[in-house]
Amino acid sequence: MQGGRTTPSATPVRVAVVGAGLGGLTVAHAVRRHATEHGRALELEVWEAGERPGGQLYTWREDGFLIEWAANAFRTGLGPTADLVERLGLQGEQVHADPAANRRYVFHGGQLHLLPSGPISLLSFSPMSPEGRMRVLAELFLAQRVDHEESVHDYASRHIGPEAAEVLLGTMVRGVYGGDARLLSVDAAFPVMREMERDHRSLVIAGLAGMSKRMREGKTTWSFRGGMGTLIEALATDLGAALRTATPALGLALDPAASGYLLRQRDGATRAFDAVVLAVEPEAAAELLEPLDAPAAREIAGIPSGPIGMVALAFAREAFRTAPDGFGFLVAPSEDLRLLGTLVESNVFPGRAPAGTVLVRVIMGGVAEPELAARSDDELVAVALDGLDRAWGVTGAPLRTWVGRQNRGIPQYVVGHGARLARIEERLLRFPGVHLAGNAYRGVAVGRLVEDAERVADAVWQVAAAA
Ligand SMILES: Cc1cc2nc3c(=O)[nH]c(=O)nc-3n(C[C@H](O)[C@H](O)[C@H](O)COP(=O)(O)OP(=O)(O)OC[C@H]3O[C@@H](n4cnc5c(N)ncnc54)[C@H](O)[C@@H]3O)c2cc1C
Repeated sequence: MQGGRTTPSATPVRVAVVGAGLGGLTVAHAVRRHATEHGRALELEVWEAGERPGGQLYTWREDGFLIEWAANAFRTGLGPTADLVERLGLQGEQVHADPAANRRYVFHGGQLHLLPSGPISLLSFSPMSPEGRMRVLAELFLAQRVDHEESVHDYASRHIGPEAAEVLLGTMVRGVYGGDARLLSVDAAFPVMREMERDHRSLVIAGLAGMSKRMREGKTTWSFRGGMGTLIEALATDLGAALRTATPALGLALDPAASGYLLRQRDGATRAFDAVVLAVEPEAAAELLEPLDAPAAREIAGIPSGPIGMVALAFAREAFRTAPDGFGFLVAPSEDLRLLGTLVESNVFPGRAPAGTVLVRVIMGGVAEPELAARSDDELVAVALDGLDRAWGVTGAPLRTWVGRQNRGIPQYVVGHGARLARIEERLLRFPGVHLAGNAYRGVAVGRLVEDAERVADAVWQVAAAA
């Protein structure tokens, strides 16, 4: 072999990726690259139940407004995401967040407060008592390493005190995961925090060291001019005929005629594959795996999530008593405001709304109030408007509103998630060629999905190459 490429061997490796969210699309893309590098012919099929690829990641463009219904940005530097962007020829489409979007607010005690960006600004952060603020700074001396799994709240309380754990981490977990800091595992949901403790003992020291590490890695907040949909469209175009939309996988079974697997499509016909990647939501993965391995299916079905409702609203710039500033605001868990957070999309990236208008996206529901997402569009708009009015003072009616829902929400990596993953992996060792991908397992952030796609493609290829 020269330069990692050979003439493809005659017998193609047959790989199916089920689910064309960002997880499935990036796995399919990586699998194809590996086939070329290994010099093996590949028969690749990507089955997507929906009418369009992208799953949760969906960009709506209408009359000069650009609305994201899931992630609106990557927060990455060099590495697999940058490589992917380059391979797809999308560098020219990248846009970076306005530095003003570094300002983030928390709604606490009935009003907005600028979130502290470091120890100095923390000293004047009034949602916390003076004792609570001093306790954060004392972390430098009090911090210790532990070697057992903890909830985000327990971990943060130990480091920065219970008050800061509630106000800062409790708020962040609500906003990022739509979740509860007392339930989520710091080790599974925020492994970087455990790394910080392992490497530096103190989060204050780690924060300072991390700033220079982030600068070295060039981590920034960025998206594409046309929104995250640009990436989905480019991946779909690159996959070409391998991508089949409106093609749900309705059954998975061992292939009695060979060593691989059979996937059943809607008309009852089956297709045979050497490897099958399930890049679907946990409930769908559990349903497909049930006939092969009921214990593994039960474990996967046990990964919780809370449905999310969203309202995007366009306003005239002058429709607020306080102008919406920065990235937006999160809502502290102690508040009665029924929002998880609000993003001022038109402040973050250029070209998200026509001149003279402001585009905001309000997120609600999650594990705190899962039933909210099922309410009518009018009710969700009313909840959103009430929240925005209490935060900024809304003096003019919205010019337009759009309502969206993510019924499966964001998977919650609760305490025990890592052990659950280990049990699932152990069960799946019996089924070489069956792999799991997507946001239910090793990270929900879009950058993590791109990184994990490389791991999954490697695993697919180790089995497939031996076939
Ligand atoms: C409101 C919200 C805000 C977010 N904000 C951010 C953010 O700011 N930053 C960030 O990094 N991340 C964010 N995320 C997370 C990120 O967007 C998601 O983790 C990611 O898009 C999920 O991709 P996925 O491929 O894992 O799953 P999905 O997008 O859910 O894809 C699964 C696909 O499988 C398909 N499918 C299901 N069953 C079958 C079947 N039987 N046969 C065939 N196909 C099937 C589904 O139709 C779907 O297309 C956010 C998520 C949400 C919901």
